[in-house]
Amino acid sequence: MQGQTRAIVEQSLQALMKDPLFIPDLQDNIREQAFTSLAAILSTPNKIHKSFLRMPLENGQVVRIPAYRVHHNDALGPYKGGIRFHESVNEEEVINLAFLMTLKNSLHDVPFGGGKGGIVLNPRERTDKELNVISKKYVQYFADVLGPDKDIPAPDVGSGEREMDWMMAEYKSIKPGKPYRGSFTGKSVINGGSLGRREATGKGVYYTFRYMLHDFLLKQEDWLNKTDNPFAKTALSLAKRPLRISVQGFGNVGSVTALEAYQCQELHNKVVAVSDRNCTLYNPDGLDIPALISYTAVHQGDLPTTAEQLKKSGVKAEILNREEVLTIEADVLMLAALEDQVHKGNMAKVPARIIVEGANAPVTAEADAFFNNKGVIIIPDILANAGGVIVSYLEWLQGRETQFLSEEEVFSMLFNKMKQTLDTILPKFFGDPHPLRQNCYIHSVMKLSTVLYRQGKLY
Ligand code: NAD
Repeated sequence: MQGQTRAIVEQSLQALMKDPLFIPDLQDNIREQAFTSLAAILSTPNKIHKSFLRMPLENGQVVRIPAYRVHHNDALGPYKGGIRFHESVNEEEVINLAFLMTLKNSLHDVPFGGGKGGIVLNPRERTDKELNVISKKYVQYFADVLGPDKDIPAPDVGSGEREMDWMMAEYKSIKPGKPYRGSFTGKSVINGGSLGRREATGKGVYYTFRYMLHDFLLKQEDWLNKTDNPFAKTALSLAKRPLRISVQGFGNVGSVTALEAYQCQELHNKVVAVSDRNCTLYNPDGLDIPALISYTAVHQGDLPTTAEQLKKSGVKAEILNREEVLTIEADVLMLAALEDQVHKGNMAKVPARIIVEGANAPVTAEADAFFNNKGVIIIPDILANAGGVIVSYLEWLQGRETQFLSEEEVFSMLFNKMKQTLDTILPKFFGDPHPLRQNCYIHSVMKLSTVLYRQGKLY
């Protein structure tokens, strides 16, 4: 997984080195050396912090739980990235997620570096009290490397505003008298969080898709019709017609993305399938997404899994196994669960012509190459799912100023920021044969490399 990110960074550096406008001061041998130095700096984390948190369980047993905080790169600002609570967390995964954060922040001009954390546990198997203890322990063990100007964690899979509130409170008591509001983002609003943070990632994911297929496409239709770019053909073939959308994952990101797709006035969507860790729900006439959100809100986030539960939810659907969300007939597949979901073993059965990565790294390198060759557009994670970190940045700013924005202001700033990136990237993407992921990486690596060069890191 990390290899894929590293390979695309190297390809991006190779493309940049051929561009005479990229750091023109570097010539000949020095330019070649700079390539090797930049590849080394960008593809390795600055520091990996690992601890085994001592946790007393409620049954009296004491266990040690592996936990990580990875600092990938801070050339652009303090490290920033979520803390994942999941049983499959491992060092390689956290490094890759931190790497993606560095690239994402650079791409969207967010003044943060890249970091990520993880705790190896299944939160569903722990009591609230145990989760409270483990959250506090995480802050105690990593307190010296965290802080509003050092490293600012946020929620990720398995964690949410409750855990961020606990963690900020622990940070405050460990560092009395020090600024603490900006130490964690994704907090509850009453505890200094930002309005709109909960919905930010899912709204940003859908906005990115809609902007490409509606706003940008309508403005650029004549030009796109004249190019023979295969991705332009794909976009045009889907424009102005009803779209069947399937969404994998129905948590924070997936449920909001599905709701945005359901409510969208600009495109004629039908959300035909959604899935979670248990099952897929399918209805070719479209699912009632608000009813499913109401159901999950009172069932620990889970979709209905039996005919009886479906009846209770008031939703008409067929219950399929959880992988089927990927392969049922749909024009657009939005991935909002975990990594490596679309891979060599299932890629040939995925019918979608556009894949949107709400999750981080949900498409493997082999599948990525396969879809690129078929002209399928993949809207990559670092472009599509940056809404969370953008609004986290707004939360951090609001915490510093203790001046709070309205929800309307937050969403307007979020969409403006994403629009700025899209207006830079999309003309390049439809104008050359590189896939969208490569275009995003080139832009991101260009900024990071120039900053590293100017900070004297290539000597
Ligand atoms: P979440 O824990 O709220 O939801 C995860 C969802 O995925 C749940 O519905 C769960 O049932 C489902 N799921 C778990 N395993 C599955 C499987 N094998 N198949 C299908 N569904 C499965 O997490 P989230 O915050 O929505 O994050 C989802 C993804 O988005 C992650 O990759 C995360 O890193 C990424 N992301 C999240 C944010 C954010 O702000 N929350 C920001 C950027 C990226």
